[in-house]
Amino acid sequence: MIDYAKLMTQAAMLRKELGEDSSSPIDIFALAQNIEKLTIVYYPLGDNLSGMCINGQEGNNLIAINSAMTLGRQRFSLGHEFYHLFYDDNMISVCAKKINTGKDIERSADMFASYFLMPDAALVEIAKKLASKHSDQLLTLEDVIRIEQYFGVSHQAAVYRLMHTPYLTDSIGNEYLTIAVRHRAESLGYSSDLYKPLPKNKQYMTYGHYINQAEQLISKGLISYGKYDELLMDAFRSDMVYGDGEEEGDVID
Ligand SMILES: [Zn+2]
Repeated sequence: MIDYAKLMTQAAMLRKELGEDSSSPIDIFALAQNIEKLTIVYYPLGDNLSGMCINGQEGNNLIAINSAMTLGRQRFSLGHEFYHLFYDDNMISVCAKKINTGKDIERSADMFASYFLMPDAALVEIAKKLASKHSDQLLTLEDVIRIEQYFGVSHQAAVYRLMHTPYLTDSIGNEYLTIAVRHRAESLGYSSDLYKPLPKNKQYMTYGHYINQAEQLISKGLISYGKYDELLMDAFRSDMVYGDGEEEGDVID
């Protein structure tokens, strides 16, 4: 059984705990970096997985996100992994790519991610306003694109969620799920970043606790510079070892 009301409350509570208001779009990547003792690894995990979460010992946790997926989907995946991190007792969760399938715990994590990124009151308000412009009071494909762009989620994530509101019927929603919307979004004036993965050479990255730990070890003189570089290279941080290839120094702005 999926307890929607409970998931909605949990999503609202976590937003508050992480310093977010109850309605605005959020920068979930930045939020993840502020969670204590959490390491986030972006890595191309293949065609079947969206991400994984390891609730490690002594609170050392790790979330991996399939960086070969689109940016909108990665944002949704991170929300999904937050559910495993904060509300799931399993030590290791490995998560499939397809939304709203699998065990209850996986579908709960999807719904949690949806509520976390698109708080219900805010979503319904926007959907209602857009739908009210049409005689049938239903959302058009363009309206759905506006909503997914506003909250920064994948097209699939937006459609599935809007099918839980009165403004998108299941049959129209299922039709919208089959449409690739990148060009439509571009022609509406939006950036197409949400619908694309990062370039291949930028799909490997580690942020958070691990990097901070390596920094602590070197600053306390507990490891050599060689070992420090090795730890960073293991975490795909050649940019920290060799620089990021950009000639100019740090910009102050
Ligand atoms: Zn999962």
